[in-house]
Amino acid sequence: MNRSEFRVALTAAAFLTLVTLVSCAVGHESGHDSVAMSPTAAVDAKRLMNADAEPESWMSYGRTYSEQRFSPLEKINAENVKDLGLAWSYDLNTERGVEATAIVVDGVMYTTSSWSIVVALDARTGAHLWTFDPEVAKEKSKHACCDVVNRGVAVWKGQVFVGALDGRLIALDAVTGKVNWEVATVDPKRPYTITGAPRVIKGMVLIGNGGAEFGVRGFIAAYDVDSGERVWRFYTVPGNPALGFEDDAMEMAAETWNGEWWKLGGGGGTVWDAMAYDPELDLLYIGVGNGTPWNQEIRSPGGGDNLFLSSIVALRPDTGEYVWHYQTTPGESWDYTATQHIILADMEIDGQSRKVLMQAPKNGFFYVIDRTDGTLLSAENYIDITWATHVDMETGRPVEAEGARYQDANFLLFPSYLGGHNWHPMSYNPQTGLVYIPVLDIPAKYAQDEGFEYHPDSTNLGIDGIVAGLPDTQAERDALRPLIAGRLVAWDPKTQTEAWRVQHSGSWNGGTLSTAGNLVFQGTADAKFVAYTADKGESLWEFPTQTGVVAPAMTFEIDGEQFVTVSVGWGGAFALVFGEYIQAESMPNVSRVLTFKLGASKQLPEPDWRPTVVFNPPKQTATPEAISEGHALYQRVCMGCHGLNAVSGLLISDLRGSAYIHDAAGWDSVVRGGALRGKGMASFATELDYEKSASIRAFIINEAITASKRQTSR
Ligand code: CA
Repeated sequence: MNRSEFRVALTAAAFLTLVTLVSCAVGHESGHDSVAMSPTAAVDAKRLMNADAEPESWMSYGRTYSEQRFSPLEKINAENVKDLGLAWSYDLNTERGVEATAIVVDGVMYTTSSWSIVVALDARTGAHLWTFDPEVAKEKSKHACCDVVNRGVAVWKGQVFVGALDGRLIALDAVTGKVNWEVATVDPKRPYTITGAPRVIKGMVLIGNGGAEFGVRGFIAAYDVDSGERVWRFYTVPGNPALGFEDDAMEMAAETWNGEWWKLGGGGGTVWDAMAYDPELDLLYIGVGNGTPWNQEIRSPGGGDNLFLSSIVALRPDTGEYVWHYQTTPGESWDYTATQHIILADMEIDGQSRKVLMQAPKNGFFYVIDRTDGTLLSAENYIDITWATHVDMETGRPVEAEGARYQDANFLLFPSYLGGHNWHPMSYNPQTGLVYIPVLDIPAKYAQDEGFEYHPDSTNLGIDGIVAGLPDTQAERDALRPLIAGRLVAWDPKTQTEAWRVQHSGSWNGGTLSTAGNLVFQGTADAKFVAYTADKGESLWEFPTQTGVVAPAMTFEIDGEQFVTVSVGWGGAFALVFGEYIQAESMPNVSRVLTFKLGASKQLPEPDWRPTVVFNPPKQTATPEAISEGHALYQRVCMGCHGLNAVSGLLISDLRGSAYIHDAAGWDSVVRGGALRGKGMASFATELDYEKSASIRAFIINEAITASKRQTSR
């Protein structure tokens, strides 16, 4: 499309938006009781491209194709936010992390809870309209690196699309919640998962996948909205060159790899979260994840950039054809994904109006990129980092610190594999010019796994799990505590400097929403939902959520009244893994949708339980060698769900308090026999023989004895 054709298209779009708005108004006048009967989820390209003419709706994951998560609504503002109160809440009846952003359009809210369960609610009252449970097999949790989460749906012309944890893409009727079609987007035998929200562009549903901690070959694919037929697929890493390349981009990428990475699961590079779209340039932007194994020396011996790992890639949305890429972390070796939220904006830089793309990927640098061609405009670190000193603006490459590539097991890397910023969406407020980043400040140690073997059905990180785990002594663990922090940072992308910050008591806080009311909303790990001024970061209002918040908020308006919604429910990777630094102040997971408006004052019922662990370990009968083997195995196979060094985040059982450690046969019936597969504990019989399973039990007994002594001495 050339410039004049685009203008014609825009004029036509404006006209159609007007028609749509008129028909919406008629629908609303017909009465709210009939909300489910009126045209539902009638989102299309024109409506979405003109989302700012319809700020009362939130029609796609990041509100608009530019994914700014900025709302022009201002009825709730810095002056009156003190009067915000709970209008309604809806219990999701799940007990794992809730990461979704709700969609609200035509009076209906569509959102998801863990296990990819979709609910439709009356957005004004929270009244339940329908629930769709894709009934993902619980043992699929074995392939979910970072909790059985889901980040939300897409809607389009009367359909609701959800990616299920087991890799299915499902189209639902927006009125009834009944399945119109479903397709397997991945090989169901492989450890792929879907946790991200689909996007709809030009009549196609786009969805990627996760699984790079286990070993998969990453891709993103597009499906026809009506038939579910696949239109295209773009791989992010090359396959075995001997089998030929799918496209020129893969041939180019293969030049940057060494060894036989395709034999180790497929190279990784999963597209598990970020997408954005520029309709004028007709470019789709995707964020690409880490490699499998993490350790590049095993994945691609001798180095190489390993395209398109940790890259932002621009594609033609009609065909999936490669246009340009920018690699944030060449030769990625630390799980430094570039899947983090991508925001598009137009801003003046050095006196010139630029179409920019912004990302704060895990590696700690904030990038401003010209989105027409991928030119790097600036990059500065948004947290203190140790793995690199700066980005060389001549080459566009980070300058790595000596020893960062596993040479020194005592090297404390900032950021960790969880990143300086993870999936929790940031937001951009064009009025303040600031980007609000939920920042993580967590270190990690990496060392070579000298005995690495590829396991097709469990994690393949290629790192020494004992070095990466917690220190042995409590004193050392306590010394790390102050280094594990988190905050809300307002970042000025033009000057690449921090405008203000709010230090939080926990690390793993919620995504952000910014509004024209000079507000930023964020939920926190320590169970608060808070409103700050967008320009200065002054805290104006907070609500006790009774559970940690990781999801971002969104806002909408019905009949002139503005609402703010946030889904709450503690969970995700940090919540599973960092039990040592969570348990003391542990909150129960209470998964709910909370919706606020001015003058409301509804109360939540008091939570009736708190998770606790009672230690009553049996005597240790195993040899030190068996305990030590169990330690290494635990860190490789079990840690991702049950927590570093067997200290659980309490979303999942703390094995040190489990009755099964008293019963060798019972233990093995769970670990290898799959006795609890219906509760999400899959069988590990393909990875572990009886001795190995028993050695893990011995290690847990050891940790339980230590914890029990500590508990008694308090
Ligand atoms: Ca990863």
